[in-house]
Amino acid sequence: MPIINRAAELAEDAKVWRRDFHQHPELQYEVHRTAARVAELLTSFGVDEVVSGIGRTGVVGVIRGRAPSQRVIGLRADMDALPLQEITDVPHKSTVPGKMHACGHDGHTAMLLGAARYLAETRNFAGNAVVIFQPAEEGGAGGRAMVDDGMMERFGIQEVYGLHNAPGLPLGMVATRAGAVMAAADTFEVRLTGHGGHAARPNKCVDPIVAGAQIVTALQSIVARNVDPVESAVLSITRFHSGTTADNIIPQTAVIGGTVRTLNEEIRRLMDERFKAVVNGLASGMGVDVEIDYEWGYPVVVNHVEQTAFAADVARSVVGPDQVTTDMPPKLGGEDFAYMLQARPGAFVFMGIGETAGGLHHPAYDFNDEVIPHGISYWAKLVETAMPVE
Ligand SMILES: [Zn+2]
Ligand SMILES: [Zn+2]
Repeated sequence: MPIINRAAELAEDAKVWRRDFHQHPELQYEVHRTAARVAELLTSFGVDEVVSGIGRTGVVGVIRGRAPSQRVIGLRADMDALPLQEITDVPHKSTVPGKMHACGHDGHTAMLLGAARYLAETRNFAGNAVVIFQPAEEGGAGGRAMVDDGMMERFGIQEVYGLHNAPGLPLGMVATRAGAVMAAADTFEVRLTGHGGHAARPNKCVDPIVAGAQIVTALQSIVARNVDPVESAVLSITRFHSGTTADNIIPQTAVIGGTVRTLNEEIRRLMDERFKAVVNGLASGMGVDVEIDYEWGYPVVVNHVEQTAFAADVARSVVGPDQVTTDMPPKLGGEDFAYMLQARPGAFVFMGIGETAGGLHHPAYDFNDEVIPHGISYWAKLVETAMPVE
């Protein structure tokens, strides 16, 4: 079954909403205009309950089906943009210097609004469809803020589904996998303090560069020697700062920073433990003082087996059986939908938007409006299939 007819009509309106969001990007929890517009549209569609201010600036809408049922399904979109200067000249380009929708959250919001309107008009399901619009996906853990605010309990959400657009994947194609689909993204900073002095008198100094260089090299052995070879982990040092412009000074301090990506909590803990052991051991051996900041970011996005199979079946009925893959390789980016999947079973899928001027987080990126009817149909079908009217 292809795109729902009504979804194709709704897509025209959704495109207008999407471009309006694109022109007015907002960051993190400061999505006031976007959230107000979302709440206003949901109310105009006749959505039964519209609640703002969940997880600070999140919005939740409840649509009751035509038949009573205990079933409640949550559908989630994100609303925030990125601190990036848009370099394209499309008519709907960002009107805010230094901010743009470079991750397509404008499109996610518009597609879920289109689906909310369809579901409120047709109500061809039994139970409640809950549409979730979250702030601060880009590093601010807005998804966790909504969960911590009691959203799942308050609205009785039993399962939760998320969708992200995927540039480079053919238009409308859906890719997902059961289990770990995106990585835990942790960061670290190591600050070394030695004893500076004249470069010709190293015996009177404690050199933080030599200590730091050994630390950088030794850290690579964690993935090579401690992580089970059939598991995956990445440890990248992305900065190492020390010294001045002078060639004759052994500096006092050095700072090393980077990121660790893992696909399960066990390996994540192992990386954390071994990281600290290696850095502390080497610092002590080299006689430098050390301070370590090791920060856990978003957890692994873990798709639940049953809900992933269900989401893939729904996608097949919308975009065709040969347009859906359930064995995509995991991505090592992070996503705070992870927190919602820790709270409730569900699935996160990627939907192709074809080739775009730039990839996600690129200053030339723009969401492809052609995918809107696919997205609306996927959401509508998911609700109608999960909660059929007898
Ligand atoms: Zn992003
Ligand atoms: Zn995103």
